[in-house]
Amino acid sequence: MTEGCNCRAFVDMYSYDIQTSQICERRVWRCQGMSVAHPVSIRLPSGSGRAQNSDSSERGVMSTTEPVNEPGKVFTVEADASTAYWHNSPANAFPPPDMMGAYMRNRPVPGQAVEGRKAWIIGSGIAGLAAAFYMIRDGGMAGADITILDALQVEGGSLDGAGNPEEGYIIRGGREMNWNYDNLWDLFQDIQALELPEGYSVLDEYRLVNDNDPNYSKARLMHKQGQVRDFSTFGLSKSQQWELIRLLLKRKEDLDDVTIEQYFSPGFLETNFWYFWRSMFAFENWQSLLEMKLYMHRFLDAIDGLADMSALVFPKYNQFDSLVRPLVNHLTQRGVKVQFGTRAYDLDMSVDGEAHTVTGIRARVSGVDTVIPVGPKDVVFALTGSMTEGTAYGDMDHAPVLERSRHDPGDESDWALWKNLATKSPVFGKPEKFYGDTDRSMWESVTLTCKPSPLVERLKELSVNDPYSGKTVTGGIITFTDSNWVLSVTCNRQPHFPDQPKDVLVLWAYALLMDKDGNHVQKPMPACTGHEILAELCYHLGIADQIDAVVANTKVRLALMPYITAMFMPRAAGDRPHVVPRGCTNLGLMGQFVETSNDIIFTMDSSIRTARIAVYTLLGLRKQVPDISPTQYDIRSILKAARALNNNEPFPGERLLHRVLGKTYYAHILPPLPDHEGSTRETVEDELGRLLGKGGQALGAIGGWLEQIRESFSSRRS
Ligand SMILES: Cc1cc2nc3c(=O)[nH]c(=O)nc-3n(C[C@H](O)[C@H](O)[C@H](O)COP(=O)(O)OP(=O)(O)OC[C@H]3O[C@@H](n4cnc5c(N)ncnc54)[C@H](O)[C@@H]3O)c2cc1C
Repeated sequence: MTEGCNCRAFVDMYSYDIQTSQICERRVWRCQGMSVAHPVSIRLPSGSGRAQNSDSSERGVMSTTEPVNEPGKVFTVEADASTAYWHNSPANAFPPPDMMGAYMRNRPVPGQAVEGRKAWIIGSGIAGLAAAFYMIRDGGMAGADITILDALQVEGGSLDGAGNPEEGYIIRGGREMNWNYDNLWDLFQDIQALELPEGYSVLDEYRLVNDNDPNYSKARLMHKQGQVRDFSTFGLSKSQQWELIRLLLKRKEDLDDVTIEQYFSPGFLETNFWYFWRSMFAFENWQSLLEMKLYMHRFLDAIDGLADMSALVFPKYNQFDSLVRPLVNHLTQRGVKVQFGTRAYDLDMSVDGEAHTVTGIRARVSGVDTVIPVGPKDVVFALTGSMTEGTAYGDMDHAPVLERSRHDPGDESDWALWKNLATKSPVFGKPEKFYGDTDRSMWESVTLTCKPSPLVERLKELSVNDPYSGKTVTGGIITFTDSNWVLSVTCNRQPHFPDQPKDVLVLWAYALLMDKDGNHVQKPMPACTGHEILAELCYHLGIADQIDAVVANTKVRLALMPYITAMFMPRAAGDRPHVVPRGCTNLGLMGQFVETSNDIIFTMDSSIRTARIAVYTLLGLRKQVPDISPTQYDIRSILKAARALNNNEPFPGERLLHRVLGKTYYAHILPPLPDHEGSTRETVEDELGRLLGKGGQALGAIGGWLEQIRESFSSRRS
């Protein structure tokens, strides 16, 4: 027990006894303030556990929360691969912290008993739905004991999709995804796809769609009213490449509150690379450099697909129909309840030393103040904020009108919950750093419901397949680099909605800069009606003269989102609370505004990941949530990223690597050299000369010598 700690309690826990091969229940002293159990040897009769198998050994009991077998270490649910050198050792039975794959699919021994307990989940976005899923799948809780509360009248949160062909469809965004959304696939491999036979999951559906229809773009960047701009390379000078490499090398803790524009040179912010990056991930120049760094690591393996978007995969339909509907179906079949019209604005807590225990949820239910009691053994999961909170809507004839003021969202907002928590303890962070300047976190999106018109004809020219073919259309966004708003437009596979008529296409557009007049319409985007935004889009597509025919066949719906990039605002350590903040005994925080070791934000995967961490930690499950995919350390990812950064030309030293590895087992890890050059001795010596000056000639001789050795090996083999 921790010295001087006064927040002890008995907790019923399960553990696995290797000697008897029994899962048994026992009672442990738990030091609540540390969020870590300190077991004492009180063993209840083992008959209460489920027998697993008859094998026995000498090693004794492994508790779900005991220190692991490395002295001084406790079990960590969220392992951080970047903290220390990892290696096998007798003192370490765990795989690397970023281990992915089937080994991580272990079914954990239940940590704490869940019978008779309830879970309260605030927010029915993907994070809240995932929390319910993992409480059932890995925590063993009955669905009937889980209630999800949401202020809105529909599940899904930011994953929306609504409307009809008459009034126009609306999606606040589309979902670019990639293969290593490991948490999302972990979940959706267990969710039945709605349009496939029993037993086929959403992951199976996803693979069927994307494996058979590659995504790529033939018009990623455009300018000059309808001309495709060369987007074959990143367009980075050597010094700009070095700016990126230096960022990868920087330590995370050195980047508190630093912005992108403080770090990069002005020239960098005009390159193709930056247009690809800022428009694909929705970064503003004044936002967090740390977050940009985390993105670089997270997507290093895909960076060579950034230019033509071949790194992306997309759901079959919009995100609501493809992801939310099947997941809600899964949960409601298991008895999970969703209570709509309920906005939680504060949590009642009992405080004992450092320990904070939620005892009630203060909520406005259909406008009436209510306290939902939380039992002593219950668990609460809450969203600290939402990127789509306070969305203002507009249409063809009406510009959206914001309901949130610039610096304070007010008490009638979802942010009230985090605001109120932050007044209770510094462990809950500083929400105002994220919601406190909507001018810097806002942008607007546009959904276009299109019947045949000159807009559709223009789109056909810019698409990789016929828009009506059911296959990839534009393959991701087309960005207009000379647009004052930094406007982008995309058409995903059609139909985008299951009920969409055959002659209708649904397009989506968005822009990053909200304070500049358009190039054609002399107003900032938020002041424009749908009609005006359509005119601006047609101008950039080079069909401004055909606007009347386009308007007659297009419906426009607008969504102005004041907090859409609030999570990217510059931040420092401690601004975001941990998933289970220090001292919280029954509260897990999820979503886009919580601290994780290395994960990025603005993804569905990260919301699901935080829910997993919260569930496993609060239930004391001995199951790890791996760190982000280790592909950033794969030498092949590094080599191809280096080639891509160097505008697809061999990077310095690459020819030498070809010379050394060319005919070895490792030859395949190198990107092939361009057709116009072989790996001749001259090119290597040239390269060395450039790299090292005169000393390069001596090294060139060494290179030749290495090649002789390598050839003598291969001739001996044959
Ligand atoms: C335009 C757009 C484009 C995007 N593009 C991508 C993409 O390409 N790829 C990708 O991976 N991700 C993308 N995302 C991000 C992704 O959709 C989100 O990260 C994810 O959906 C967030 O889920 P969440 O559950 O954490 O929060 P949200 O979905 O924001 O959940 C909010 C829900 O919780 C409710 N709620 C919140 N607080 C309370 C409260 N106090 N009381 C009651 N109810 C509450 C809200 O009513 C809402 O229903 C995009 C998002 C948007 C909006």
